[in-house]
Amino acid sequence: MLLDTIAAISTPRGEGGISIVRMSGQESLNILEKIFKPKNKKVSELKNYSINYGHIIDNEHIVDEVLVSIMKAPNTYTREDIIEINCHGGYLVTEKVLEVVLKNGARIAEIGEFTKRAFLNGRIDLTQAEAVIDVIHGKTEKSLSLSLNQLRGDLKDKIATIKKSVLDLAAHINVVLDYPEEGIDDPVPENLVDNLKKASAEIKDLISSYDKGKIIKDGVKTAIIGKPNVGKSSILNSLLREDRAIVTHIPGTTRDIIEETININGIPLLLVDTAGIRNTDDIVENIGVEKSKELINSADLILYVIDTSREIDEEDFRIYDIINSDKVIGILNKIDIQQNIDLSKFSKIKKWIEISALSKIGIDNLENEIYKYIMNENIEDSSQKLVITNVRHKSALEKTNEALLNIIETIDMGMPMDLMAVDIKDALDSLSEVTGEISSEDLLDHIFSNFCVGK
Ligand code: GDP
Repeated sequence: MLLDTIAAISTPRGEGGISIVRMSGQESLNILEKIFKPKNKKVSELKNYSINYGHIIDNEHIVDEVLVSIMKAPNTYTREDIIEINCHGGYLVTEKVLEVVLKNGARIAEIGEFTKRAFLNGRIDLTQAEAVIDVIHGKTEKSLSLSLNQLRGDLKDKIATIKKSVLDLAAHINVVLDYPEEGIDDPVPENLVDNLKKASAEIKDLISSYDKGKIIKDGVKTAIIGKPNVGKSSILNSLLREDRAIVTHIPGTTRDIIEETININGIPLLLVDTAGIRNTDDIVENIGVEKSKELINSADLILYVIDTSREIDEEDFRIYDIINSDKVIGILNKIDIQQNIDLSKFSKIKKWIEISALSKIGIDNLENEIYKYIMNENIEDSSQKLVITNVRHKSALEKTNEALLNIIETIDMGMPMDLMAVDIKDALDSLSEVTGEISSEDLLDHIFSNFCVGK
């Protein structure tokens, strides 16, 4: 497929050591010839996969002193000729270099267009293109390693194996329908059925890996709740190990919601400190209360805090009552000035952790317990298995599995083979959706719009 030549600044804008202006397309080398003066050489003499010193020239004027990398098709990121100009990392100079490139025949690249070309030109499938975005956005080593596995093609390969088992069945059916003497009434060969069943089991595993995959990739949304002054902000700060939330002894000072991400053994924990939940005439605080209720509903994990230095009162119970989930860890704060607390009425809470946010006692233990809690719930040995992290993959695979189960049922019941045609098509189509062999313009636009310019 011949596409026009695109260019963009591929490094973040601003001042830095170097910036890179990247070009991709069949005109790249011609454009370079017009704008680049290598030292003691002509552009046409420059070797493939070489880095070359020289100057970018505009009408005989030097625009910048640069290093130019030459990568010729097809073994490049986009499978097209790619030129990367390493210029000095100033905002203006980089813009000027890009301007010269555009003036001489390239067009400005859309967001994610380089990677889109890698996909359109068949170097990577859609799961790998999506992995590129995830690698860029990766927040922890665990999430990065999942994205890198996907970029390597692990999911693509798995889909190919599953697809093969469906294609083998389709080929068998074609043969028997075309040549009925081959045994139209014979049962479908056992190995084909076994492969389908295996494929279905693998898809089921993939679908059920989504929840943990999502947690590794996007993190666990964790709300810290409790009545005012129990120490929520102090706990947030202890977990962050810095003073981020305002901590005072006046109840209700955490008026708005503070969000921070911390990394607990490779799991991003998106911590949200809520305003104290209580009935109040104060409008600002009321907004906070409403938000807190919303948060409790949307949180993956709730840290419910009690101040052990005070008697438990109605307010503690009122907040306890609106926790409508069992994803709760109880925190007994202020154990440095502890009293005896009767926890028998908090039956929803299975696990209590004693800490002092002020004296930093028990914080490591709290982190460990949070990690254990998340692990038990969601992650057994994610490092070993293939894990999906993308809801698009999950829903396509659900369609595939539905079709596979229908096919298996049709075979098991000994029904005519042509009844499977629709399900075979559905299975193949939904698998092709995952890898992008079947994709709409809208979907591609949506996926590549999550990229950065120049990627
Ligand atoms: P929030 O309203 O729930 O966010 O509570 P804050 O974090 O603002 O804390 C309220 C007050 O309790 C502040 O004066 C803190 O210094 C104090 N505090 C927080 N944690 C502890 C603790 O573990 N021990 C003691 N003694 N005081 C604490």
